[in-house]
Amino acid sequence: MYDAIIIGGGLGGLTVAIELAKNGFSVIVIEKHTYPFHKVCGEYISNEVRPYLEHIGLDIDKLGASSISKFQLSSVRGKLLHSPLKMGGFGISRYSLDYELYKIAINLGVHFELNASVEDTQRINETFFVDTNTSKTFQAKLLIGSYGKRAKIDKIIQRPIPKQTTSYLGIKYHISLDFPKDLIALHNFDGGYCGISAIEDNKFCLCYLCVTSNLKNKSGVKQMEQDILYKNPFLKEIFTQADFLFKKPEVINEVVFVTKSKVHENIIMVGDSAGLITPLAGNGMSIAIRSGFLAAQLITEFFQGTINRNELEKLYTSTWNDNFRNQLWRGRQLQKLFGKEKTAELAINFLNNLPVLMPLIIRSTHGKVLKF
Ligand SMILES: Cc1cc2nc3c(=O)[nH]c(=O)nc-3n(C[C@H](O)[C@H](O)[C@H](O)COP(=O)(O)OP(=O)(O)OC[C@H]3O[C@@H](n4cnc5c(N)ncnc54)[C@H](O)[C@@H]3O)c2cc1C
Repeated sequence: MYDAIIIGGGLGGLTVAIELAKNGFSVIVIEKHTYPFHKVCGEYISNEVRPYLEHIGLDIDKLGASSISKFQLSSVRGKLLHSPLKMGGFGISRYSLDYELYKIAINLGVHFELNASVEDTQRINETFFVDTNTSKTFQAKLLIGSYGKRAKIDKIIQRPIPKQTTSYLGIKYHISLDFPKDLIALHNFDGGYCGISAIEDNKFCLCYLCVTSNLKNKSGVKQMEQDILYKNPFLKEIFTQADFLFKKPEVINEVVFVTKSKVHENIIMVGDSAGLITPLAGNGMSIAIRSGFLAAQLITEFFQGTINRNELEKLYTSTWNDNFRNQLWRGRQLQKLFGKEKTAELAINFLNNLPVLMPLIIRSTHGKVLKF
């Protein structure tokens, strides 16, 4: 019997695991894949979690992460907006980042069940029973859901998720290209936006989010890119000049930005499982880490007997809302503004005339530096 079972070993799950193990609790992470592996993500991570990551032993410079301090936004027709990134961030592939955190967790004694998908969960009295597709059952006093943006598991645990009217798709490539390493550029196209920024080893992450309906009447992703993304001259240049380093892109569909419960059937949700900020805000990774950290602090109090289960769930929900609810709301408003060709064009024109506004907008989608 473990103290905690964590479903999903992304940034949220790994952070909870590391923190609980540091505090002396027994933890198992059940992860569908085996590290290292690629994941759809823009791979720009805000500096608000940099001091924390370094504190737990991640050598960001040694991993070759790029330092990013400038931001550029373009409209579909190629109108440009520039802004400094006050807090800034760094670029590192999820392939490396998640793998390094996994190794830190292993060194702290965290157990992993890899290549295993959680298929069912049940709580009997004070014990959770978790079944995997590898025909194993694990038991723990507490269950943490950190299974990401969308998962079958929500259906299994009958978690009510509000319907999202628009369906989104995320696509990622690693490329090599002659491009500034200190810049993150977001280029709009009809029904979406595409980000490019440097990661380690002189590579760049090229990642976009778009409405799934963009694929309608197209022979595939390539044709959609040529017909829709190439209308933005910056994207046309990037896509036609880059060397693509993957055999095929990483793809994720059914990306949802709706509000979700922070606790369901006594399962504490962290990271995207609790709510995904729109990628335009470039902040989902730090929210996953920060929510994992905050959850672990309260779970520690629960294990130590300072608070009971009911108090843990209430405190976690209010802490999550205090820290992230407004940030996610602002991300959704930005998505509405920049997700459509006409409104994006208008917004960029307006912001070009009022350049002081852009740093304020960027600031409003970011959180505070994580204190530990
Ligand atoms: C297109 C796009 C671009 C983005 N760009 C950025 C960006 O540049 N910067 C940024 O900060 N954020 C970005 N984000 C958001 C960021 O990727 C997420 O917020 C972050 O990955 C959340 O971490 P997580 O741990 O909650 O989930 P994840 O990292 O998704 O981890 C969840 C894990 O759970 C596992 N899992 C799922 N179901 C099961 C199961 N049943 N059993 C076992 N394991 C399971 C998965 O394999 C996965 O490893 C982007 C998102 C999208 C969609």
